[in-house]
Amino acid sequence: MGIVAQGPDMTGSPTIRPADPDAIEAATAVLREGGLVAFPTETVYGLGADATNERAVAAIFLAKDRPRFNPLIAHYATADGPGRDVVLDGRARRLAAAFWPGPLTLVLPRRADTRLAELASAGLASAAVRVPAHPVARALIAAAGVPLAAPSANRSGEPSPTLAEHVAASLGERVGLILDGGACAVGLESTVVDLTGPFPAILRHGAVTAEDVAALVGPLVHAEDDAGRPKSPGRLARHYAPRTRLRLDARDVAAGEALLAFGPDGLPGAAVTMNLSPAADLTEAAANLFAMLRALDASGCAGIAVMPIPGHGIGRAINERLRRAAEG
Ligand code: AMP
Ligand code: MG
Repeated sequence: MGIVAQGPDMTGSPTIRPADPDAIEAATAVLREGGLVAFPTETVYGLGADATNERAVAAIFLAKDRPRFNPLIAHYATADGPGRDVVLDGRARRLAAAFWPGPLTLVLPRRADTRLAELASAGLASAAVRVPAHPVARALIAAAGVPLAAPSANRSGEPSPTLAEHVAASLGERVGLILDGGACAVGLESTVVDLTGPFPAILRHGAVTAEDVAALVGPLVHAEDDAGRPKSPGRLARHYAPRTRLRLDARDVAAGEALLAFGPDGLPGAAVTMNLSPAADLTEAAANLFAMLRALDASGCAGIAVMPIPGHGIGRAINERLRRAAEG
């Protein structure tokens, strides 16, 4: 019998199991005891805990070294789940009907009788909710019978994991069980839309674009970083960041730099090159972004030169991640 740890389990390396029904059952048992399980979603791997259990949610913050002021997203198995814990208005219902299950998170007022842990909202009057599309995520949440708080399964500030191996490398013994569902199809975190104000605001760009959202709910406010009062507490300056320095919009490669290329024409002179999408396909580039940043980070290069990425569609979300990874 092992010791049931409330915080990070320091007793060994994590178990990576193919996400078959037996492994999902084992994961469900861990979650019911207030433990942590990493699982695949279509965006990135999440570090899940029972979102209704304050101590389980606290364990997520501890395992990630995540600042307590940065609230978590609660994940539901089906689109009729969030209404039990947050108040959906007409705009929320239109977006939910169009994009759930899928890579869209809505920030909405908490219901007075919400089951969600206060810590999941970092004490705010609102909560972020999403219905993931990945069958493993949905099966796990359904079996757990509660919403799962699940930020990306990496230590705070690192690139998000898009493979089970990334989770193991980043969290090590801090997570006991990782459900392996292969590579994440989208590869970038969900779009976050704040619906607590009169105008919807995009807090984080993602595969569901600002245009997709505006088409259904009208004009958007673009929440820019505001040092005085950040609209989204998670918008810390440095994020998604490899240890190696990034140089964006590179048109050449300096001595010792690795190259993160995009499109059919690379650049000469790089010791190591990885191409986000030789076909210049932004969806493919998004899916490759974090894994390639991790791989180049591990290559021992002096810096990473990143070729320009077009800013339309999901390119906006890619550039948002790259800008923040390059800061600091
Ligand atoms: P992560 O869990 O790492 O995918 O990040 C979730 C993102 O959603 C962070 O940027 C949070 O700051 C944001 N978020 C979650 N809940 C809220 C909330 N109640 N109000 C504003 N932003 C939120
Ligand atoms: Mg994250």
